[in-house]
Amino acid sequence: MTTQHTVLHLINAALPLKDTSVLFELKGSMGEWTSIVPQQGRLSGEGFQTLESLGQDTFRSSGGREQRIDLEGKVLLPGLVDAHMHLDKAFSLPQVGNVSGTLLEAIQNYKAKSPSFTQEEIKRRIIKSALSALSYGTTRIRTHLDFNLKAGKEVAFRTIHAALEAREMLRGKVDIQLFPMIPFTGITELELDAAEEAIRLGVDGVGGAPHLSETPREDIDGIFRLALKYDLPVDLHTDESDDPEVHTVSYIAEQTIRHGYQGRVTVDHLCALSALSQERADRAIALMAEANLGAVTLPAVNLYLQGRGDRGLVRRGATRIRELLDAGIRLATASDNIQDPFHPFGRGDLLQIALITAYSAHLGSAADQHTLLRMITEHPASVLGLTDYGVEAGRPMDFVIADALTLEQLFTEQPVGRWVHKKDGWVHIAQQNSLWGSAALDDLWEGVVRLDGFASV
Ligand SMILES: [Zn+2]
Repeated sequence: MTTQHTVLHLINAALPLKDTSVLFELKGSMGEWTSIVPQQGRLSGEGFQTLESLGQDTFRSSGGREQRIDLEGKVLLPGLVDAHMHLDKAFSLPQVGNVSGTLLEAIQNYKAKSPSFTQEEIKRRIIKSALSALSYGTTRIRTHLDFNLKAGKEVAFRTIHAALEAREMLRGKVDIQLFPMIPFTGITELELDAAEEAIRLGVDGVGGAPHLSETPREDIDGIFRLALKYDLPVDLHTDESDDPEVHTVSYIAEQTIRHGYQGRVTVDHLCALSALSQERADRAIALMAEANLGAVTLPAVNLYLQGRGDRGLVRRGATRIRELLDAGIRLATASDNIQDPFHPFGRGDLLQIALITAYSAHLGSAADQHTLLRMITEHPASVLGLTDYGVEAGRPMDFVIADALTLEQLFTEQPVGRWVHKKDGWVHIAQQNSLWGSAALDDLWEGVVRLDGFASV
């Protein structure tokens, strides 16, 4: 089990989301921050240990003692929030290839292979990818889930059951929201019943990709009916295409307003928004703002997948990132797929994703870098509807410290060293570049590593 320290006392912490001109002293007790105070200069570290001196006993020592740590100017952030992952698909590349590299082939190949995956295999992939993200400082994740009803109810429910079990096993370490992607195209009454059954099992919201449907408006209507019936948020893959005629976001915004669902609907990808004329894009963005849609850009995966038909000047695939931000839309940037047929790279590291976002949207000034940081912290926290987020008195001690002294170093150095703390104690320390040694996670990780043959990790 993790250790619950009665008191955590940190000095000389840089909090770039608050104020880059001073260092901070932080205290927490019983899993919650109690005070965050700007320092007058640097404090003496006498009587404090350094982060580097944290060892195995960090996870094992008995609770109740005070832990005093001098951060020596390192950056402390609230736990990073990944608003859009596919934990069930991550690391499936060895089983599911993609020769053309296109989104279409990825969808087809995964669909063809999904009946062969066991529940245990899917669960291991979820745990492995969630723990990888955790080791880079992500403590909350929203994952979309494959829900392949056309392959039969039993196949579709393997992923749901695997995800429900994994969510429970990881609770308090990395907290996960589950959004099954419900396919409405040609849905039968029986399949709709199955979708409702999945929802009643305790997922967190309704997902889908209605732009892929031949009848996108009917799909969107069905998704809203389901969400309203169970009072759940909606999160949709939206207009993931280079084609300006693939345009569902405005209809989603209209239905959000019509149903009074402002603030509870998220749209992801939005690649085709970039292909619209400026006038149409301006109208769509204004409507998105009116509907208070949350939005998620997935630049790593879309740089990889989109623009494949282009020669010469190749489109980037990213959405209108700066324009959405300027319109006041809560835009997160997130991982999407990791080492699967949709995207062969990635490791669940949001600092890496933020850097790719910077390249795809010309974000580089000091102000832009601050925005990038908010796109992996405060914006996705808002998208996930988190009400207990942030480094504030009374909030949970859910944070990551990176081996960097400034906001700029987070991006230039991409430090691998991360120390991650959840409410009840440390869950990852930098010296152990994997999760080995964390008593809280050993069993979970060993199970994944042993069974997948990742003995070298
Ligand atoms: Zn996705």
